Amino acid sequence: MRYGTNSSPRRGLLRMSEVILAGPPEWVFFDVGETLIRPWPSFAGAIVEICASEGVELSDDEAHAVADARLRKFLDFVRELEGGSFSDDPKRSRNFWTKFYQGFLGEMGMEPDLAAHLSTVIYDEMTQPHRYRVFDDAKPLMDLLAARGIKMAVVSNWEAFLDDMLDGLGIGHHFEVRAISGIEGIEKPNPEIFRRALERAGAHPSTVVHIGDDPRSDAEPASGLGMGAIIIDRRNRHPEREWPTVESLSEVPALLGLE
Ligand SMILES: [Mg+2]
Repeated sequence: MRYGTNSSPRRGLLRMSEVILAGPPEWVFFDVGETLIRPWPSFAGAIVEICASEGVELSDDEAHAVADARLRKFLDFVRELEGGSFSDDPKRSRNFWTKFYQGFLGEMGMEPDLAAHLSTVIYDEMTQPHRYRVFDDAKPLMDLLAARGIKMAVVSNWEAFLDDMLDGLGIGHHFEVRAISGIEGIEKPNPEIFRRALERAGAHPSTVVHIGDDPRSDAEPASGLGMGAIIIDRRNRHPEREWPTVESLSEVPALLGLE
């Protein structure tokens, strides 16, 4: 089948490189952040809570607006702040995120010394599992895929602690294969991390669909290797709709021909 054509006529034009699978995939690869799990209560909400715990009150509305603008340009920040990657090395991860949080707090009008201090507090707190939750639409999809005998993997730009956290969040048992940048030392959009996952899965790209929230880190490299690609866009961050796009994971079974 060709993903996202007649079943979603309101979506944008598909790329010519779009993979056509003859039937349901044998594997589904998942990105993790903003695809399966999210910061709790939200990226901005977590920062507001952590600052409050340090005695610093921030405007919740303003924090959400600043977060939204910065997360839309996330890969630009990765290039600007750490030269192109952020999660493939522990030191680079800390450097990137503390600079990212400092910039965030600076945009909120905070003076630099306090922002520098709070950025390290936020970084440490955001490596804790209690700061993350699984999206409500993720478990039903994974349960359905498992019931249909479709295997699952994660391909994620995340620090090494994600490996334990997937288990702690109760979804780790779904993933026969895991390629996590903080463990691999290589991160998306480098196709090598997808190649490693494919090799471990023993899967041909044409039997795999990758689902992620970032066109440049997820859909482009996966499609470039010959995999099917679906973008999950929960917050209308990519209105151009260059790829088969869903707004909820509950729409995925139809796209995979599983309904
Ligand atoms: Mg993501």
